[in-house]
Amino acid sequence: MLQQTQVKTVIPYWERWMRALPDAAGLAAAPEQRVLKLWEGLGYYTRARNLQKAARLIVAQHGGEFPRDFDAVLALPGVGRYTAGAVCSIAFNQPAPILDGNVIRVLTRLFGIHGPPTDKVVNARLWQLATKLVEAANRIPPSSFIPHNSSFQVSGSCSALNQSLMELGALVCLPAQPKCAECPLRARCVARAKHLTAQLPTPKPRPHTTERRFAAFVIKRAGRFAVRQREAEKLNGGLWEFPSLEHDATQPDPLATAQTQWKLPSPAPLCVIKHSITRYRITVEAYRAQAKRGSLLAEFQWHTLAELHRLPFTSAHKKILHALASKG
Ligand code: SF4
Repeated sequence: MLQQTQVKTVIPYWERWMRALPDAAGLAAAPEQRVLKLWEGLGYYTRARNLQKAARLIVAQHGGEFPRDFDAVLALPGVGRYTAGAVCSIAFNQPAPILDGNVIRVLTRLFGIHGPPTDKVVNARLWQLATKLVEAANRIPPSSFIPHNSSFQVSGSCSALNQSLMELGALVCLPAQPKCAECPLRARCVARAKHLTAQLPTPKPRPHTTERRFAAFVIKRAGRFAVRQREAEKLNGGLWEFPSLEHDATQPDPLATAQTQWKLPSPAPLCVIKHSITRYRITVEAYRAQAKRGSLLAEFQWHTLAELHRLPFTSAHKKILHALASKG
């Protein structure tokens, strides 16, 4: 849940999730629609699907117990080198390195590393440094890190080191104004000594953004609304949405297309939604329309407003649903 998402956003989702699906067996057996509904609003739904695939694998291959072996953790769907390292070091005190945005900031400044951290050579160097640090930590007792009177609980030195790097990045080595005067690494820090904290880490080249426009249609017939489920292999697969058409060069007037394709009477504006997914800046203009006799809408399913609220929707279409509910 924390991949690409802030802790404060995740907390209510985590609490709801843990009440509903508290263990691997429960998640493995849950219907996918329930899993997606619990995840609704967090975005990047592949994470939810991978989590369920991982739970099924844990049940099938590890007797329902989370594996402790690094390679077995790394083999779980959705788990990459960072997540496997974080779990194995923090939970099991193994000397596995981690590298997230906070740790990258600390290491590039501490060692004065130039070049975008996504660059292959720079990235390999950062992993190498993170590995050396956690291996060094593994050779010394946790009391070297943590005062005796601290309430900070760790499983050992590797856990303490990796959590310390993450916390240092999150609370002290801040992106814009690092608190160098309070930093326990200040005497060794290259960026501080050379006044390079504003330059490091080197920003990665900005990806070019792409604008996309859609027209969505809230079509009502006898108290029910037309919706469809996105195909599993597409972005946001398995989630629900109102009928929509992309506004692009091949379809310069989606309103006219909708009227022809679905035989809709004149749709009326409902709301405009703007949101971003990865490099896409998306605008959705939503319209409402009453289906008439002869409308060609057999491809859609029909649900009441109350039923729609129980389905997992894509973020943009969830906002359309809210606009519909508030405007009546
Ligand atoms: Fe970051 Fe400053 Fe500490 Fe260096 S001294 S690691 S720049 S907070």
